[in-house]
Amino acid sequence: MGRAYTYRCDRCGFEDRFNEGHGFLIHPQPLDSYLKSREKLFHYQTHRVLKELAREHRNLFVDAGFKIYKCSHCGVLYDKVDVTVYNDGKVLHRSEFRCTHCRSRLKLTNIHRLKKAVCPVCKKNTFRIDQRKMVLWD
Ligand SMILES: [Zn+2]
Ligand SMILES: [Zn+2]
Repeated sequence: MGRAYTYRCDRCGFEDRFNEGHGFLIHPQPLDSYLKSREKLFHYQTHRVLKELAREHRNLFVDAGFKIYKCSHCGVLYDKVDVTVYNDGKVLHRSEFRCTHCRSRLKLTNIHRLKKAVCPVCKKNTFRIDQRKMVLWD
């Protein structure tokens, strides 16, 4: 299950939605069974990384879902599909993303504590969460 959050810019009116959660994506499962199923949910590069990891290790687990990230440099929000591979409960691989504006590395953000972010259109710190528009999906 996941949630969709709506942010709206007080200044220019730009609105965007950010997803967080599992939903239609995979739930934690053994990497082998993901690779055996013919579904390719991820970017081809991610898929290649997963195949290589499966060749080198046994009994890996993979988990994927939408997470919300913020650029630490320009403050813009993103939702991305995070893919994490576990080996014996330890993180072996985790997706990394960069900001499309400044190429800085994105950091996971806690949307519940984030009241304001930077609007990707007018670049002002007036991008606010609209609590009334929170949607649940599955
Ligand atoms: Zn704006
Ligand atoms: Zn940035």
